[in-house]
Amino acid sequence: MKQKIKILHLEDTPTDAELIERELKKAKINFEKLVVSNKPDFENALKNFSPDVILSDHSLHSFDSHEALRIVKKTGINVPFILVTAAMTDEFAVTVMKEGAHDYIIKDRLHRLPSAIINSIENQHLKNEQFAQHQQLMFHIENAPLGFIEWDRLGFVKSWSKRTEEIFGWSEKDFIQSQESAFMKVYEEDLPWVNTIFAQLISGEVERNKVQCRNITKDGSVIWCEWFNSVLKNKDGEVKTIMSLVQDITERKLLEIQKDNFLSILSHELRTPLTTIKVYGQIVEDMLNIKGDVNTLGMAKRMDSQVNRLTTLVHDLLDFTRIQNDKFVYNETFIDFNEVVKEVIDDMQRINSTHQIKNNSGDTHTIFADKDKLAQVLNNLISNAIKFSPNADTIVVSTKLQKDGVELSVQDFGIGILEQEQENVFEQFYRVNRARQSTFPGMGIGLYICSEIVTGMNGKIWVESIINKGSTFYVWLPFDHRDKN
Ligand code: ADP
Repeated sequence: MKQKIKILHLEDTPTDAELIERELKKAKINFEKLVVSNKPDFENALKNFSPDVILSDHSLHSFDSHEALRIVKKTGINVPFILVTAAMTDEFAVTVMKEGAHDYIIKDRLHRLPSAIINSIENQHLKNEQFAQHQQLMFHIENAPLGFIEWDRLGFVKSWSKRTEEIFGWSEKDFIQSQESAFMKVYEEDLPWVNTIFAQLISGEVERNKVQCRNITKDGSVIWCEWFNSVLKNKDGEVKTIMSLVQDITERKLLEIQKDNFLSILSHELRTPLTTIKVYGQIVEDMLNIKGDVNTLGMAKRMDSQVNRLTTLVHDLLDFTRIQNDKFVYNETFIDFNEVVKEVIDDMQRINSTHQIKNNSGDTHTIFADKDKLAQVLNNLISNAIKFSPNADTIVVSTKLQKDGVELSVQDFGIGILEQEQENVFEQFYRVNRARQSTFPGMGIGLYICSEIVTGMNGKIWVESIINKGSTFYVWLPFDHRDKN
């Protein structure tokens, strides 16, 4: 320690004070020392001398180290207090340390004093720094737009920030003093799965998660909250604390529900007129065929293909809203995998003249799955492959048997997808590089629906792609996903 240490020494025996001074000089400590021997001088020195460390004898004529410690605490000065006294009992040493002394030295073992001073000052600096950092962290926590909660392993609240109080109306005291679990404030219907999620965090199986659930506020209203939870483990890897950040998303959620309802009604309402147009369109096509009016027949066919596009769009919208509202129903039976693949390829080849769809199927197997939904996935992947490879003329659909399931791939030789964008294409409304593909129509929900369908049947979907060379979309489905459940 290079800078000069300011030592305030409470001592009324001048020879002892000198002894201590000599010991410090011997250890080459750079110090400035002020010796005081009574309470008023001590109080004065605390104010005006600004010591880095206090050395105190235990009993002086007019007062003692207990009182000196109390005075130091009262002033709020954060400096180490070292008791330097004649022989003492273990009990006494424990009492003084409990009262807040940092160390104690017996006068006939003064050689320990220099290192005790240096250590205690360094420790104090460290503590001050940690305290400042903690204060800074608490400032951010208290002023963050998200509420902060710390839970113990049993789900009891350890801390509850001001913002959390603003969101829920309950204060920290409501939980800490009553030892009531804040889990009681989760909306009853959501409680079972919230408990499961909490158990996963406590066991360490999941280290962080993001969940949305309904909570009850102090005034009894139900609000939607988004929770970002993470666990804090001790050095043995045991979960000690769960930290949560929470925000009130009620407004956003209500708007989302309104939007979903709107989309659901809209897509339902659009389906009926579209079916009628499709049926009449086909009657018109048949009549024009009989009449041999090739020109008008061409126009009717173009109209029909646009009606098909619109129908797909409406179906996608309907599926999307069903997924959002957890109303996606699977109709599962045992089906022959390659048979479904062949049917879809044949259907799609009939309506596509720009590309040849090659069927590269391997050995087949029965799988327990929803046939229409599987066909929908393949249909979507082939449609995308055609749409995003305008300068190519081949699509290759392959199947192969794996150990526990079947794998399907759809390969095109089109525009490809950048590596950093490949994972995102399965997210809702995601469309790659808008500028580059502004010529390709779409809403960005086809692959999202595919991914929901595939994961709903416990399968996997992924893509491999090279820009300007082409993409291959893969789907893996288990033979019977109920085996795993
Ligand atoms: P949409 O095709 O309606 O935009 P999708 O969800 O089907 O929506 O696809 C999302 C995005 O993924 C597409 O906009 C496109 O950018 C990219 N994508 C999908 N399939 C391919 C493909 N075969 N080749 C290149 N990009 C593709």
